[in-house]
Amino acid sequence: MLQNNQQTVSNIANIDHIKKINYATIYKVIETHAPISRVKIAQVSKLAPASVTKITRKLLENGIITEIARQTSTGGRPAISIALNSASIHVLAIKIGRNLLSISRYNLSGEQLSNKQVNIELANGEQLIEQIISEIALAINTEKPLGEKISAISITLAGLINPKQGRIIYSSRYSFNNFPLVEIIEQQFNIPTFIGNHTRCLALAEHYFGASQDCADSILISVHHGVGSGIIIHGKCLLGENCHIGEIGHIQVNPAGKKCHCGNFGCLETEVSDNVILEKVKNAINDGNFTTLIYETLTVEDIYKAAANNDPLCRKVVEDAANYLGKTVAILINLLNPEKIIIAGKITESKGTLFSTIQQCITHQTLPEFQNKLTILPTKLQPNSTVAAFALIKQAIYEGNLLQEIHI
Ligand SMILES: [Zn+2]
Repeated sequence: MLQNNQQTVSNIANIDHIKKINYATIYKVIETHAPISRVKIAQVSKLAPASVTKITRKLLENGIITEIARQTSTGGRPAISIALNSASIHVLAIKIGRNLLSISRYNLSGEQLSNKQVNIELANGEQLIEQIISEIALAINTEKPLGEKISAISITLAGLINPKQGRIIYSSRYSFNNFPLVEIIEQQFNIPTFIGNHTRCLALAEHYFGASQDCADSILISVHHGVGSGIIIHGKCLLGENCHIGEIGHIQVNPAGKKCHCGNFGCLETEVSDNVILEKVKNAINDGNFTTLIYETLTVEDIYKAAANNDPLCRKVVEDAANYLGKTVAILINLLNPEKIIIAGKITESKGTLFSTIQQCITHQTLPEFQNKLTILPTKLQPNSTVAAFALIKQAIYEGNLLQEIHI
């Protein structure tokens, strides 16, 4: 009996999974080929015409697609084609930064309809959640002229995130431990909500809308206060069962280096992050090294610009960081054989120095075969923007997880 019950549950799960895949397939065919007829959708998707009729009827009822009458070439009855109704479906994409909370409204065409940034006054996790809830409520209530309905919410932040459970497993900045953020937001607003690690989602955003649109396998490496990566294989972000693939910031690159917050010594993060670069240049100035910069007003942006302009001290510090980054990039290339490496962060301002040093590491430390079709370039999108959170919603649609829940 138990076995039969288990089998029934497993069959239902399979049917649900297939349904999601079919919805997503039809959505993607319409997105790529619109305006397109139902007959053509069936041909391209290789789904049975009856399934296409059923799913398109549901998508039409829910306002996700729309019918367009098109004149036939023979001048007979207009043929009915289908297109997406993306401009009418609105979502909220949120980024929790170190000091700033960014909240944007997008439509599903990818247009940003509003954008607001507020300071995060308090570093306490509970108060931050109150602030997020109040900003979401404000966005929903004050932006009604833009559209009444919000169909999904997504949130990205740094730290260990479990998107499947909707939980922040660990965030050093806001002291979250196994925190059920998605459940709290969904209870409050009754809107499907998603969370993800910001860097992983930025890699996905570059794949959907930016620098890696034209390839299936890419790795984005982000250098800010921390260092992390997002790995895209076959167009999907690699997360793994535990959800944390890509924490390259804690690869040991200098055994004699400083202690990291993870407990290890000389992690990539303790050698190349923005605050470390600033500290290294300040220490070098204190030790009497020559630079064109002024110590008192020094920012990390000044350092990266000065490195690009051949300031000897800044160039040396960026070169050292680029060597550590380059070694890690070379390991990733040997391990994963990507088509593109994308670097995100202010450090990309020091262009020549950064990229030529990383390129040297690639040339000397990776398989020559792997270098032939490899490109390394800076991010195309604004690394700090809410576009990463928007990509998370796109992913939910492409995987069929959201399509049956949108009704406008
Ligand atoms: Zn570490």
